[in-house]
Amino acid sequence: MHADTKLLKKVNVEPDGYDSLSVPIHRASTIKYSTAASFAARFQRDADSYIYGLYGTPTHRHLEQKLTELQGGARTLLVPSGQAAVTCSILTLVGADQHVLLPDTVYGPVRDFAATEVAALGIQAEFYDPVDLDDLRARVRENTRMICVESPGSLTMEFQDVAAIVDIARKAGALVACDNSWASPLNFRPLEHGADLVFEALSKHVGGHSDLMLGSITTKDEEIGLRLKAAMGRLGIGTSPDDVVLACRGLETMAIRMERSAASAAIVAEWLAAHKAVGQVLHPHFPDTPGQHIWARDFSGSCGVFTVVPNEEFASRMLPGLDALNIFSIGASWGGTKSLLAPSAVSASRTVRRWTGPEHVLRISIGQEHPDDLVGDLALLFDAMTA
Ligand SMILES: *Cc1c(COP(=O)(O)O)cnc(C)c1O
Repeated sequence: MHADTKLLKKVNVEPDGYDSLSVPIHRASTIKYSTAASFAARFQRDADSYIYGLYGTPTHRHLEQKLTELQGGARTLLVPSGQAAVTCSILTLVGADQHVLLPDTVYGPVRDFAATEVAALGIQAEFYDPVDLDDLRARVRENTRMICVESPGSLTMEFQDVAAIVDIARKAGALVACDNSWASPLNFRPLEHGADLVFEALSKHVGGHSDLMLGSITTKDEEIGLRLKAAMGRLGIGTSPDDVVLACRGLETMAIRMERSAASAAIVAEWLAAHKAVGQVLHPHFPDTPGQHIWARDFSGSCGVFTVVPNEEFASRMLPGLDALNIFSIGASWGGTKSLLAPSAVSASRTVRRWTGPEHVLRISIGQEHPDDLVGDLALLFDAMTA
């Protein structure tokens, strides 16, 4: 054999006696087959076997199985973002002339998706009041195929009654799909409350370090899981094992990171609630947060993500004051180790219940810094607003 051919021969290293604590990164486009017959029969293989890099490697199976177990589901699909978890599920499971209901407080880019691709496909998307079950009931149609839930709602933190929504959906023969990115399976498991599908933006708490994009769909219905899996393959949607392994690493510290963030957020939220520049703090700690009793009933904890509504009197001074902060960064995609602030406009993304508060609210994601430093940093903004 010539040296240049030798360059290409894979050395078969025996893994016997090697057992690392970490999840190995298996990269592949091509999966090698031992015989021509096994290659010819590759699409008869079961859904968890290895066929082609797009459909996953052992690294992907590790995270899929971990999430399936955490959610109490039957199958998990990994997708390139939290956004893709929602969009791919709707595209796969809802067809033309069918109806999908979305909470008025749904993640903004999903609202955009409903108005564009969903509408163009002839799928009927409609928004409902996230905390008014009568409003939801009145909007359910004969052709309603899916009711999406996002608890709590983006920006305005409405906690939704998943069990009651499941009840409404069952009667209509519709699926319930729950975006659980805020809670993570540590604090709420929608499948245990009757939901059919659960979405996680793994870019947030699971990744945990603001450096990866990934999402998941977990279902407790194997038939739906297989349909989604086949559709993802046909659509060409796969994920990088390098990102997947970062998510696996993130899971190992997620409980302790979320606990620390939640404890610090409680301190910061209390301080904010007492400040005269603040109108309302939307955080499950406070009973006037919409659906807070549902959080108390269904969730086992919170996290570092909540919203501050400025006092109308001082609201116009919030945006100009934001640049003065030193520890908080201005940015979206919460759930990382570093604290973030995202000034967010609400009214343009509400069509069912008009937003009557000030135009901009402050979305806060508390990271791993000391809470006293975070309060000190926020004082630079809020004290200046009332000075
Ligand atoms: C961020 C977010 C998403 C989207 O996740 P990406 O991974 O950023 O695409 C979906 N749903 C909710 C509730 C989110 O906060």
